Amino acid sequence: MERSFKKEAEALELGAGRTFRGEGILAVTKALLQSGVSYVGGYQGAPVSHLLDVMVDAEGLLSELGVHVETCTSEASAAAMLGASINYPLRGAVTWKSVVGTNVAADALSNLASPGVTGGALIIIGEDYGEGASIIQERSYAFAMKCSMWLLDPRPDLPTIVRIVEQGFELSEASNTPVMLELRIRACHVTGEFPAKDNRRGVYSGRNPIPGPPRHEYIRLSHPPSTFIHEKQKVEQRLPAAQAFIRQNGLNEVFPGDIGEIGIVTLGGLYNGVIRALSRLGLADLFGNSRIPIYVLNVAYPLLPDEAKRFCAGKRAVLVVEEGNPEYVEQQLNTELRRADIQTRVLGKGCLPRAGEYNSEALIGGLSAFVAESRPGGVDVDTIVAHAAAILAQRTGALAALGDIPARPPNFCTGCPERPVFSAIKLAQRELGPTHISADIGCHSFATLPPFSLGNSILGYGMSLASAAAVGPNFARRPIAVMGDGGFWHNGLVSGVASSLFNQGDGVLIVMQNGYTSATGQQYLPTSRTSRTGAPTGMSIEATLRSFGVKWLRTVRTYGVATMVKTLKEAMRSAERGLKVIIADGECMLARQRRIRAEEAEKLKRGERVVRTRYGVDDEICTGDHSCIRLSGCPSLTVKPSPDPLRTDPVASVIESCVGCGLCGEVAHAAVLCPSFYRADIVRNPGWRDRLLHRLRSAVIGWLGGRAEAHP
Ligand code: SF4
Ligand code: SF4
Repeated sequence: MERSFKKEAEALELGAGRTFRGEGILAVTKALLQSGVSYVGGYQGAPVSHLLDVMVDAEGLLSELGVHVETCTSEASAAAMLGASINYPLRGAVTWKSVVGTNVAADALSNLASPGVTGGALIIIGEDYGEGASIIQERSYAFAMKCSMWLLDPRPDLPTIVRIVEQGFELSEASNTPVMLELRIRACHVTGEFPAKDNRRGVYSGRNPIPGPPRHEYIRLSHPPSTFIHEKQKVEQRLPAAQAFIRQNGLNEVFPGDIGEIGIVTLGGLYNGVIRALSRLGLADLFGNSRIPIYVLNVAYPLLPDEAKRFCAGKRAVLVVEEGNPEYVEQQLNTELRRADIQTRVLGKGCLPRAGEYNSEALIGGLSAFVAESRPGGVDVDTIVAHAAAILAQRTGALAALGDIPARPPNFCTGCPERPVFSAIKLAQRELGPTHISADIGCHSFATLPPFSLGNSILGYGMSLASAAAVGPNFARRPIAVMGDGGFWHNGLVSGVASSLFNQGDGVLIVMQNGYTSATGQQYLPTSRTSRTGAPTGMSIEATLRSFGVKWLRTVRTYGVATMVKTLKEAMRSAERGLKVIIADGECMLARQRRIRAEEAEKLKRGERVVRTRYGVDDEICTGDHSCIRLSGCPSLTVKPSPDPLRTDPVASVIESCVGCGLCGEVAHAAVLCPSFYRADIVRNPGWRDRLLHRLRSAVIGWLGGRAEAHP
C-alpha cells in the first residue's frame, strides 16, 4: 500500500480519558481493539478498505496486543478465518464489501453459521448500495436471514457505532451466532467523536496462546447429522437468546415525539437521512428532536416482535423506512401486528420508492406522502405536503437553470498502464475484426466506456475467463478475456485458468499486472513488488501459469503498443489450440506517482538532479482529426483552439497533468498518425553536462532560426 495511514493508526492507541475524533470506519477499528479481538482479516473494497489499511499500518500496536492481522486473498478466505471462533473463545472480525463480497464468502458463511461460534465473530460489511455504489444493487439482509446470522445496522453516530460494535461481540457470544455489521458509505465517512476506552487483549492471542489440545466435538462440525441439530438450535435456542440480549441491552432505540398517533420505524443506518428530511419538513429540530416518534432498528435482523408491537400499538399508522426490494422489515412487521390483532396500518413502499437509495429527496417525498395518507392531528398536513412539493421542485428548477451538464463517467487515471492495452486491442481489431471481450472487475472495466467501449460482459471478480468458456466454442473468433492481477489471485486462477486448461479451452486471456489491487486504494497482492512487511513476496504470475501448464505465454510491457498489437494478432491467429495468456506488465500509475513524487521531493531537497518527462503536441503539425484522443483516451490529452486562423478545427493539446507515460506518442507511431507529438525532459537541479548540452542546443536552434530568417 503506497498510501500511509500512520496518523489514523496513532488514533487507535488512545486510552480511557481521551477523546477519539475521526471517521465512522476508523471508530469501528478502534472499537474492535476495545473489544479484545484476537484476530482481524478481510478483503479490500469500498467503503471498508480503510479498516484493514489502518490495521496494517498499526502493526506495532497490534503486535503489542497480540492481534493477528491477515490480508486475505478473497472474501472466502476472510470468512473462513472466522472458523477460529467456532471452537475457541477467540474474538475475531473480518471485513469486505457487500453484497459481492458476501456472495464470494457465502460457502464459508453457511458453514460458519451452522455450528455457530464460541468466541464473538463480527463481519463488518460495507453495504455498497445506492448513489455512488460500484456494484450490483442487492442487499445483505437476505444473507443474514437465510443463514440465521444477526445483522446490525447502527445509527450513523460515532458513540452508537462503537457501542453496537462492542455489544455485537457480546451478542455473538450470548447467542453463539456470527454477527454482521453493515455500514453504508455515509456511515463509513460520517465524522464525530466518542470517549475512548483502553484497548484490551483477547482472552487468548498470539501473546497468550490457547493451552491444551485442540477441541474436537463432532457437534461443532457443519456435517450431518450435526447440521440437523444446528438448524433446530438456530430457531429454538440461538434466536431467542439473541432477541433476549437485544431487548435487555437496549440495542434498538425509541425516540419519542408529540404526534403519538403515528410513528416511523427506520433501519439504523437510515436514521440521519430520516431526521434531516423531518427537519426540512418542519417536523424535527436541528438537534434531532422529532415530533413523530421513531423506532430505530440498530439491529436490522432479527426483529423483536414484542418491542415492535409495543411501539406500534395505539398508533393509527407507521412508516417503515427500509431501502431496496423486497421489503423484509415491512413484511415481518405486518405479520407480527396481524398475528397480535393490532390494527396499526403499516406503510412503507408506495409512500417510499420500491428501489434505489433513500436520499434526501426520496425521504422528503416519502414522509410527505405518509403524513398525507395518515393525516395526524395537531399538524397542518396541507402545508407540509406543499412544502415538500416546493423542496422537490427546487431540483427540477435547478437542473433546468444549469442546462445540460456533461456526464462524468469514471475513467482511467492519466498515464494508466492499462489504457495502452485497450488502444492495442482497438488497433488489432481494425485488422482482425471485432471479437467478444469478457471484461472483469477492476480499473480495466473503465474500458467498457467511451472512447474504447470494449467489453461485452462482466460476471464478477476474476470471472472473465470463466465467463468466456461457452462463448469461444460458439463464436467465429477467439474471445478475449481481460482480468487484473487482483482478479487473477482472487478467483481467476482457479475458476478461469485451471478450468480453461482442464476443459481444453481456446481463448485469449490478458492479465493486467499492475502490482496492486488498484481500484480499492492500492493494497498489496501476492505478486506486489513487496508484501506489507516490505519483503519480496516470492510469487510470480508467470511462474504460476507455467506450473499450471500454460504453454502459450507472453509478457509484454503495456506501453509498447506496437508490440502489444503484434502479440494480440499472434494470439488470435495462432493455429495452436489452447489457452493463450498475455501478461500486460505496467505498474499502476497512481501508485507509481505516489511513490516517485516522495522520492523526487527527497532528491530535490538534497539538491540532486531530477528529470520529469512531458509530452506535447506541435500546433503547427497537428491536423486536428483527434485520432490520438480517440485511441488513447488520456484525460491529459485534450483540445485547444488552433493558432492557425486558416484552420478552424481545434488542435490536440497536452495539459500540465501529463505524467509522461509516452502512450500518446506510442499510439501515434503504432497507428501511423501525424508526427505532431514531441517529448521534453524537464531537468531540475541540472548538472554541468545538462547546462553544456542546453547551451549547444540553443546555439544550434538559434543558428537554424537565423538561417530560416535569412532564407525565408
Ligand atoms: S488506479 Fe492505477 S490501474 Fe487504476 S486507473 Fe489509476 S493508474 Fe490505472
Ligand atoms: S504522455 Fe500522453 S498519454 Fe501519457 S500522460 Fe501524457 S498526454 Fe497522457
